[in-house]
Amino acid sequence: MTDTEKPINFIQQVINADLEAGAVDRVITRFPPEPNGYLHIGHAKSICVNFGLAEQYGGGCNLRFDDTNPEKEDEEYVNAIIEDVRWLGFKWQGDICYASNYFDQLYSWAQYLINKNLAYVCELNAEDMRAYRGTLTEAGKNSPFRERPAAESLALLEQMKTGEIDEGRMTLRAKIDMASANINMRDPVMYRIKKMPHQRTGDTWNIYPSYDFAHGQEDSIEGVSHSICTLEFAANRPLYEWFVGNLPLPSQPRQYEFGRLNLNYTVTSKRKLKQLVDEQHVEGWDDPRMPTISGLRRRGVSAAAIREFCDSLAVAKTDGVVDMAQFEHFIRDDLNSNARRAMCVINPLLVTLSNYPAGTGEEFVVPGHPNRDDLGERSLSFAHQIYIDRNDFSEDTTLSRKKFKRLVIGDYVRLRSAYIIRADEVITDASGNITEIIGSIVPDTVGADAPEGIKARGVIHWVSAADSADCTVKIYGRLFIKAAPDAGEESFLEHINPQSLQVITGCKAERGLAAAVAGDHYQFEREGYFTRDSKSSDLVFNCTIGLRDNWKA
Ligand code: ATP
Ligand code: MG
Repeated sequence: MTDTEKPINFIQQVINADLEAGAVDRVITRFPPEPNGYLHIGHAKSICVNFGLAEQYGGGCNLRFDDTNPEKEDEEYVNAIIEDVRWLGFKWQGDICYASNYFDQLYSWAQYLINKNLAYVCELNAEDMRAYRGTLTEAGKNSPFRERPAAESLALLEQMKTGEIDEGRMTLRAKIDMASANINMRDPVMYRIKKMPHQRTGDTWNIYPSYDFAHGQEDSIEGVSHSICTLEFAANRPLYEWFVGNLPLPSQPRQYEFGRLNLNYTVTSKRKLKQLVDEQHVEGWDDPRMPTISGLRRRGVSAAAIREFCDSLAVAKTDGVVDMAQFEHFIRDDLNSNARRAMCVINPLLVTLSNYPAGTGEEFVVPGHPNRDDLGERSLSFAHQIYIDRNDFSEDTTLSRKKFKRLVIGDYVRLRSAYIIRADEVITDASGNITEIIGSIVPDTVGADAPEGIKARGVIHWVSAADSADCTVKIYGRLFIKAAPDAGEESFLEHINPQSLQVITGCKAERGLAAAVAGDHYQFEREGYFTRDSKSSDLVFNCTIGLRDNWKA
């Protein structure tokens, strides 16, 4: 690792010991999403851990789709996940892996366990199976089908596979211990009947393996040395080890668990995110308010910011809730260093400069970024009429210079990278609303100090009225108004922030922004960080984040 100051986490300790003892010669990890939704920020943590370890130890990380449940899975999700992992900047070793590629192998291992008297076809229905399972404090009871001959189980399993048995009528179960203190070990289900085509294997199968029966075996087939998952699987580890120990596997992977990443003011569960999408509380999985990787990308968060945030968090043995503000700190930090500067007037107010003749103009060449020469230059066009922001003007001449560092009637302000101007007169419509300001420039003040006796109150942004791009700006608030939206008895949907999206049309951006590309980042001076929306053909900018943290809980 390059940053040697960072203390090593418990997984790195395990790996170091394994390498030292010669138990492992190449570190192979995997990221195993189920394609039943889009990836979220929690998955990013898992991706960073798994790909990060492979990188650090010169090993490899597989991208493996855990596609064992066709009911909820979809090709759309597969493609989105591939795009997200790639966008985050990680490369998996070899081809993309799919659990479904191993269905034949898993099936023959199931037959192997039946032959070893370690699995049986059970005909208890779901309700009875539950009753037989016992409770946390009470042992379970053996299924009446537990001692059926292997030949019978083999024949029934084949019938289950070919579709001759109805759904719910039978399962294949491992024969372990109905009295185990660990409920996972009480003859867990290995195969269930699901008469449903699979996105990759079509109609071949009418049975699908359980997570527990599939995962360790998939790891072994792929030579995964360290199978890293989240804490909720800790109680499944004995079962993982039982299958690994009882099957003639090509390698002996081991499972390790770390704490999930949760963020406040949002939810990190695919099921809940899917509900937000299905019930149209948001535009889709990539809605910029979503904590999905695709939503964050569309919002304008960079891959580097996500990676750095994830890497800053401990790989711990407890689940944690991280403050959204901590994530936002990384987003802002990254954009401050990398976003090009630009000007966009969000609430335009026309200013006509009476001493700057119509039909004349100038171009001011300014840096793309105050301290990044590599971000080039841009050209601002100045003219007789410009726009400033309504909020940057006041008729109240009693406002102190300290409090209101903007334009006041009769006073001066500097236009960023251009002239100092004065506001001379206000034009209003019939109802008294200001429609225009008549002002004047102070000559020779571009890139030069104000002459004696003139003092600009502050610096404001502006664009040329004629030579600007019309655009829409979307400003996002947090999706939930409650820090822990899904902690209570009530539905998390009750805590949706009704004001999480503000759409402002009629904004005026500096000309160059008409060519902005989604994924390019801009700091709209004095406003915040923005990126062009990837879904809209019009010029729409998503506000990634404000310039400073002004969230009030
Ligand atoms: P969800 O609860 O959102 O459905 P999941 O665990 O069911 O998540 P998977 O597709 O199975 O989703 O996850 C792929 C990998 O990502 C797993 O190894 C899982 O442990 C890990 N992962 C999922 N959510 C988080 C999280 N919040 N923090 C860290 N890792 C996570
Ligand atoms: Mg899962």
